Amino acid sequence: MRIAYSKEIDVKYDVDVFVAGGGPAGMAAAVTCARAGRSVFLAESYSAFGGAAVTMLVPAFMSFGDGVHFLADGFGREIRDRIAREAGERWRKYCPDSIPAEVLKRIYDDMATDAGVRFQFHTNLTDAVVEDGKIRYAVCAAKGQVFAVKAKLYIDCTGDGELSMMAGAECAYGDENGRTMAATLCGLWSGIDWSRVQGPDRRRLDDAFADNVFTNIDRHLPGMWRLCAETADENGAHRPDGIGGSNAGHVYGIDARDAASLTEGIIRGRKQLMEYRKYYREYLTGFETMELVATAPHLGIRESRRVMGDYCLNLEDFQNRAVFEDEIGRYNYPVDIHSPTNDSAGYNKFMKEYTSYVMGRGESYGIPYRCLTVRGLTNLLTAGRCISTDRSLQASVRVMPGCYITGQAAGMAAAVLCDGHSDDVHGADVHEIQKRLVGIGAYLPNYRE
Ligand SMILES: Cc1cc2nc3c(=O)[nH]c(=O)nc-3n(C[C@H](O)[C@H](O)[C@H](O)COP(=O)(O)OP(=O)(O)OC[C@H]3O[C@@H](n4cnc5c(N)ncnc54)[C@H](O)[C@@H]3O)c2cc1C
Repeated sequence: MRIAYSKEIDVKYDVDVFVAGGGPAGMAAAVTCARAGRSVFLAESYSAFGGAAVTMLVPAFMSFGDGVHFLADGFGREIRDRIAREAGERWRKYCPDSIPAEVLKRIYDDMATDAGVRFQFHTNLTDAVVEDGKIRYAVCAAKGQVFAVKAKLYIDCTGDGELSMMAGAECAYGDENGRTMAATLCGLWSGIDWSRVQGPDRRRLDDAFADNVFTNIDRHLPGMWRLCAETADENGAHRPDGIGGSNAGHVYGIDARDAASLTEGIIRGRKQLMEYRKYYREYLTGFETMELVATAPHLGIRESRRVMGDYCLNLEDFQNRAVFEDEIGRYNYPVDIHSPTNDSAGYNKFMKEYTSYVMGRGESYGIPYRCLTVRGLTNLLTAGRCISTDRSLQASVRVMPGCYITGQAAGMAAAVLCDGHSDDVHGADVHEIQKRLVGIGAYLPNYRE
């Protein structure tokens, strides 16, 4: 059965730029655009900024640089530096690659507020009103109110390409059989004796498989990251924190576009983490007394829609260390495609790709502006996990520093377009975007005045 439903709603915000989602891409886009002098409204469905680092408890950043250059320069460097300043002595000493989520939330709150970004948490983008290939309004549902936002330009930073899908953009999903990388429910743990921990965490999996500890034989165990309590100071330096963030276990066959499937996945994930509790406590040293403090509020989704743009960045570009005239950044993380299936063929394929498609020191691939411009829509840009790539490239550029790079570029592009009184993302002055990105510190070695 279907019903027709319509309603008159207020246009609550009238701004230059609407940003959907406040993860790494959305924060970089909104703050960069607002700092460039444009009015921005950001809708975030959760109760904090941060995206997967906060909602999915992803415990660590992947590479910001290539060993020689700081690739996520500009916004990414600012985040790195602010965390280093604000997270405390113990974080700097013991876990500088981990994400102190509470510190990060406050940093983002301050950055958005200081830049003049208008934003609302608990606010879900639910629809887009499109006329003649142009988004006219974004429709949001918040506590107590459904309202519209009017903007000249729209940036999809939902990770899942939600705004693009709602606007009717062409999206790709998964492999040739529609299968995506397995999801993971991350967790927060206490009671770990980090002084006795040895890696890698997967080293006794075979023993545990033989003892039937696990329901699934899953050989891919990214592991447990050391986290530090943010309040630790000099006086507490002798007292171990004992905190860990897990990226353990895969939930297979989940459709990130479907709430019913996500519901099933998070329930499976919660059960499965109890098996990892047993494994860590009984098979590995240092974890004997560990306890689960919390599972992530959201199931960790690695792969969802890829929104098709004017260019589709691909594996060949990775292999060629491609340079583009319109590049807005460069990145280098390996092709990290977690298997969609729980079998040894899938695991072996993951290992082969992960170890074959790797950059050397100082190497990177270019990301063209055309990966952010959504085909068939005039005034829509994407940034972050859902930009226009093939599956292989998505598996590289999806990590958080990569999302800072594309988010920053989308925010700057929107500002440049507004300054030029244009809302046509396909006709943007890319040279001007690059020039202004360089002005805020972005790494664009191929840019020429
Ligand atoms: C299990 C797991 C492990 C990972 N490990 C690492 C790692 O070690 N290091 C690393 O750097 N990266 C890692 N990643 C990848 C990385 O975390 C994500 O790819 C990255 O955060 C994507 O950034 P984003 O801004 O595109 O999207 P997200 O971080 O997903 O942010 C999107 C935001 O949009 C909001 N949103 C979504 N839909 C709507 C809507 N309709 N209305 C309003 N708001 C909406 C969400 O609440 C969210 O805050 C991992 C990911 C997973 C799942």
